[in-house]
Amino acid sequence: MDSRFYITTPIYYVNDRPHIGHAYTTFAADALARWRRARDENVLFTTGVDENSQKTVDAAAKTGEDLRAYTDRLAELWESTWKQLGISNTDFIRTTEDRHTAVVNDIWTRIDAAGDLYRSRYEGWYCKGHEAFLSEDELTPDGLCPDHRVKPELVSEENYFFRLSKYRQPLLDFYAAHADFVAPANRFREVAAFVEAGLEDISFSRERKEGRAEWGIPVPGDSHQAIYVWADALVNYISAIGLEGWEEHPADVHAVGKDILRFHAVIWPAMLMSAGLPLPGQVIANGFLTVDGVKMSKSLGNGVDPLDLAARYGGGAAGIDAVRYFLLREVPYGQDGDFSEAKMKERYNGDLANGLGNFAARVLALAEKETAARGFLAPPISGADREFANVLADLERAVDAKMGELRFHDALASVWAAIAFGDRYVNEKKAWEIADDAARNETLFNLVTLLSGIATVLVPFLPGTAQKIAYAIERSGDGTLKARKIEALFPRMAQ
Ligand SMILES: [Zn+2]
Repeated sequence: MDSRFYITTPIYYVNDRPHIGHAYTTFAADALARWRRARDENVLFTTGVDENSQKTVDAAAKTGEDLRAYTDRLAELWESTWKQLGISNTDFIRTTEDRHTAVVNDIWTRIDAAGDLYRSRYEGWYCKGHEAFLSEDELTPDGLCPDHRVKPELVSEENYFFRLSKYRQPLLDFYAAHADFVAPANRFREVAAFVEAGLEDISFSRERKEGRAEWGIPVPGDSHQAIYVWADALVNYISAIGLEGWEEHPADVHAVGKDILRFHAVIWPAMLMSAGLPLPGQVIANGFLTVDGVKMSKSLGNGVDPLDLAARYGGGAAGIDAVRYFLLREVPYGQDGDFSEAKMKERYNGDLANGLGNFAARVLALAEKETAARGFLAPPISGADREFANVLADLERAVDAKMGELRFHDALASVWAAIAFGDRYVNEKKAWEIADDAARNETLFNLVTLLSGIATVLVPFLPGTAQKIAYAIERSGDGTLKARKIEALFPRMAQ
């Protein structure tokens, strides 16, 4: 059986530093990757950077650095940020790598051989910030890009066009046969309606000229043209595993933000159909993340750095897990969400310090005392406590089901319901004052087992915390347990 699972994040532009919006998309992909790995699947998980764009050239020009030195520095910054955030990617792809250029050339050649590329004159309003042409009706009344607030450049030139219009019906047929191709479902309906309304051919190249598109991958056989962003960037998903690897097992999941969903759910499958290659299993799209109600943008400088944020919440694995927890718990996947320090602090103190942290501290302290006195915690002789076993079994089932539906926030709510059950159990049984040795020992065995089960289902969400809990619990071959106290998982933050 093919137990491979291939998941990707977008490749991010190197014109900016990672902010929590990028981190959110990446954490969601990482949670899925870790969840699959926990089910013994062989997970390939790629992320990377898109360097071949005009934005890169502009950003490098602003810093005064040599273009190559600039991209090397930024690629390193992105790669090390993900590493410090504990992202479990198995590869990091740069679009300036030879392995990428080679595959982009192959795909272009295949699409050309299919008769899907032709030359034509292109004229349009080109917004550098979007790296896309905007139609007249997308501009503000005074002719500005609504997002970037600048007047786009009127560009007229001869380009290669991709016959996207030809793939309208094949795409609709594909969507009809693959009900889960895009998630969440409301986004799939938007994509299908967009395709249904008719597709126009799109420009797939740019003239290579001074100051614009000198950078980038030349069109095979025509060095006066550079392959345009999507025809280049999307191909990274193949470059990472090679053409044969993709033919054998294409991506199972592309995790993206909703702003680039259309490119992934319309242009990309059309390109693959044209190139005679298999299509990905699913494209999942998260909503926008605002900061205090305002969209994050480079021009506003309101992007929140995920590492700075983690450092403010205790740093290390705890700080990172706090950021992961907030984003995956606070925002239902697919919907737009908002970050604010106040909400983050509330989640941190309420759910992490008082909830999980307090429960783990209580259980492990009692268990350590018991272990010191009796040597170990033994399972109930009469068999497992039924209510108890049911809570754990239900929790595992609920988390699995909700992960499968991308309901990360609901999966976490289930975990916190189990923590609340554990807290009640400690209080109701008055675990600390049970006089009968065997009864007290069994009660603590149950509680440590619950905590251990909670740590297991938390691996995709709070990997560092799950590991700390797991280290505190020692299991013997005869079914007994030992446990020891640990430092506070999430020290309370001052209000
Ligand atoms: Zn724009």
